[in-house]
Amino acid sequence: MTLDTAFTGYADPSLHAEGLYIGGKWEAGSGIPVIDPSTGNTLAEVPDASIDDAMRAVDAAEAAAVGWRRAPPRQRSEILRRWFTLMTEHAEELALLISLENGKALADARGEVAYAAEFFRWYAEEATRIGGEFRHTPSGAHNILVDHEPIGIAVLITPWNFPAAMATRKIGPALAAGCTVILKPASETPLTAYAMARLGAEAGVPPGVVNVLTTSNPGPVTAAMLADARVRKLSFTGSTGVGRLLLAEAAKSVVNCSMELGGNAPFVVFDDADLSAALDGAMVAKMRNGGEACTAANRFYVQAGIHDAFVAGLTQRMAALKVGAGYDPETQCGPMITIKAVDKINRLVADAKDRGARATTGGAPVGGSGYYYPPTVLENVPTDAALAHEEIFGPVAAIYRFETEEEAIRLANDTEYGLAAYVYSRDIMRAMRVGRGIETGMVGINRGLMSDPAAPFGGAKQSGLGREGGVTGILEFMEPKYFAVEF
Ligand code: NAP
Repeated sequence: MTLDTAFTGYADPSLHAEGLYIGGKWEAGSGIPVIDPSTGNTLAEVPDASIDDAMRAVDAAEAAAVGWRRAPPRQRSEILRRWFTLMTEHAEELALLISLENGKALADARGEVAYAAEFFRWYAEEATRIGGEFRHTPSGAHNILVDHEPIGIAVLITPWNFPAAMATRKIGPALAAGCTVILKPASETPLTAYAMARLGAEAGVPPGVVNVLTTSNPGPVTAAMLADARVRKLSFTGSTGVGRLLLAEAAKSVVNCSMELGGNAPFVVFDDADLSAALDGAMVAKMRNGGEACTAANRFYVQAGIHDAFVAGLTQRMAALKVGAGYDPETQCGPMITIKAVDKINRLVADAKDRGARATTGGAPVGGSGYYYPPTVLENVPTDAALAHEEIFGPVAAIYRFETEEEAIRLANDTEYGLAAYVYSRDIMRAMRVGRGIETGMVGINRGLMSDPAAPFGGAKQSGLGREGGVTGILEFMEPKYFAVEF
């Protein structure tokens, strides 16, 4: 598999994938084209794994399982730490690769590599701190000893919007816990996952501990792995729709699931907010990754007294962004992942406009050979617009006006999603009260960015089950075992 670099200037062949990565061996293949969304050109082809290939990956993960779970935590820790170091040393190449296959601006791609690598450093540290519990029973009859064991072979499925970070956020805790894994990255962005597998091997990850496969047939391939009694964990990040399908599939063999699903984050600005800080935060919360983030602020609820100034400020900042190829160093907003993504944004914006919204900047696709949509601000958006309820996953800020605190909380909660929310107010008591009232797993208070490897990331309602990162993230890959001990 060769990366066509003629038109991109991507020169470093050391991170190019060579095929499926199973049991520490590369297996050449083709069948899935990887497209550069900045141009629409084909960058490379990756292999299209069959169900048999996936079962061989489960065999490889099983063959490595006992050795890995028995490896001293310090040894697992040092391998993860070396992987962190190698990712950091290769940060520029990885960022360029992410930008090539995903389209995100280089600055965002660099940020992602740093964030992604931190999961290996964090879980290198956590690997040596796995705890248990000891208690006396209230009756005094016996003692309660709780151990945490690695849960078993884990299937990890990741989306295209953070090709490095969504993988390390799962691989880090899984390996720290002592599990072996099969990673299935998104078909749009597999090159980053394969490049990281190469670095993992260099870091000393034993063959079979991490296996990577791409497939154009994710449903049946995943179903086959979940039906295998050796697979005990599914950790999925992606859309709520696919998450529902996978939960049903996993139910058949009662496989333990962690689900990081979609979002439609509210961004609430009160009259007493620091306007400039709110605008800075809004730009980060909205435009990180060109709006293709599960935590992206999509629904801006702005109190009447500050509304017009906020709309004017956001319009000015959004209109000033430079749109272009992700890997052009000048670019601030790259293309969307596919033309289908552009069509969806276009449909949602057109629907909002039909219902009375007005675009103060942007509002229609750019055209050309890549998959571009311009930074867009919509004001006067009615709450029955489709984008108030559907995740837009693009550079569109929809602004709604509100009067009272109760109204803001009610509007923020009017969604099936519950991943992230943002609240801006100088009154910290009010900001915390509103943050408590909004039904989400995460709240940014006077802050537009919440992702951090040391924090528990995850959603309420239909945004997911379980948490990744933080001190609890490792427990998603462990099974508590209770010993009733008499002595
Ligand atoms: P997606 O369509 O759900 O795909 C995610 C992954 O699932 C891909 O690897 C995809 O493979 C695979 N997949 C698709 N259908 C499958 C099936 N029937 N069985 C097994 N696997 C299947 O999501 P996406 O478009 O890549 O990502 C965007 C979504 O992810 C958004 O909703 C976003 O909010 C969410 N997201 C959530 C978080 C979070 O932490 N909560 C983080 C990032 C993104 P193919 O690529 O081969 O189709």
